Amino acid sequence: MNIQTVAIHGGYNPDPNTKAVAVPIYQTSSYAFDNTQHAADLFDLKEEGNIYTRIMNPTQGVLEQRLTEMEGGVASLALASGQTATTYAIQTIAEAGDNIISSNSLYGGTYNLFAHTFPQLGIQVKFANHEDPSSFTKLITENTKAIYCESIGNPLGDVADLEALASIAHKNGVPLIVDNTVASPFLCQPFNYGADIIIHSLTKYLGGHGNSIGGVIVDSGSFPWSKYKSRFNRLNEPDPSYHGVIYTEALGDAAFIGRARVVPLRNMGAAISPFNAFLILQGIETLPLRMERICQNTQIVAEHLNRHEKVSWVNYAGLPDNLYHGNADKYTKSSGSGILTFGLKSGFNGATTFQDTLKLFTRLVNIGDCKSLVCHPASTTHRQLSDTELVEVGVSREMIRLSLGIEHIDDIINDLEQALKHV
Ligand SMILES: *Cc1c(COP(=O)(O)O)cnc(C)c1O
Repeated sequence: MNIQTVAIHGGYNPDPNTKAVAVPIYQTSSYAFDNTQHAADLFDLKEEGNIYTRIMNPTQGVLEQRLTEMEGGVASLALASGQTATTYAIQTIAEAGDNIISSNSLYGGTYNLFAHTFPQLGIQVKFANHEDPSSFTKLITENTKAIYCESIGNPLGDVADLEALASIAHKNGVPLIVDNTVASPFLCQPFNYGADIIIHSLTKYLGGHGNSIGGVIVDSGSFPWSKYKSRFNRLNEPDPSYHGVIYTEALGDAAFIGRARVVPLRNMGAAISPFNAFLILQGIETLPLRMERICQNTQIVAEHLNRHEKVSWVNYAGLPDNLYHGNADKYTKSSGSGILTFGLKSGFNGATTFQDTLKLFTRLVNIGDCKSLVCHPASTTHRQLSDTELVEVGVSREMIRLSLGIEHIDDIINDLEQALKHV
């Protein structure tokens, strides 16, 4: 079925016991065993069933199944945040001594995780040039465990050449992991272009209402882990922490997501709460409708600002002259999603005046809400960076980031116009 239908019905039929039509919130920490044998079979992964909410929960299970169907994978793991999803996806296959190759166009939190925290754990992250897929190839070594990118980079707005990156990854026997947060499955389904693992921050477009933090890992089931036995030894050799199970043998296509659940999640524990899973499910029901309006509003705003005399530049992949418009045509329905960046001719001071005089837009650091949001990175998220560091991460001092919501376009344009008058 189409994503509009899956977003509403995926993973759930009215509960057979209660006939509840809305997904119930299973607010329980544990689940009863029928008897000793039942418990033993659950722990041996011989039978599917619930044990403890740190590892699984039926409300979370509906969320996972719905996202699996929306992305076209085999299984998912919902987690406490998008950051957890990235961390656990990589820790499922990489450990001290290993490395991954990442695009250098990244969400700030992911950049910090990759540039500082993973190296402290012994996992090296090598950054490749997001404008040049071939720059990834040169960095791959025997200990490389994955290639990582964002389908649409936050905040740079570049649209990754997913087919090129998948082909480089597969030629070298490693999976492509794609953070699909900004595009959402409405604009892009990376598995169709060869991606192997998808990550989302559910906090953004999928939840859509700025009320809950969550993340997910979706497994395509298509990466041949058992073909590269020594590179992915943790999936192919008996796991002593799980009484000798071999994930590729016990779980087949779902080996990766199975290990993500029973090793990083079970042992490190960043589970999503059933209530957050419920709120995110509510949000997902309207994802396609919201994305249609958000992309339409953002396109109009991008074109409006592009014509404006006080604006020096606009970066949005939905504009025909944008460097990434070709990739957007191929991968993201010709849209750059709901985020655009632009600069004012009056520079840093103009940017702060503009931000301070907006009335409808909320000043904050988030994206993907149904409310319109504004952020001036150089005075907030990136204020500790020197001028050279700002250039390196592609953030100029005058850059303003908008995340458009679903309000009426006339009200959005009027607010932008009245603020631009003060500049
Ligand atoms: C917000 C975000 C994340 C991190 O997600 P959290 O839910 O805030 O932990 C990861 N990637 C991208 C692209 C994001 O925008």
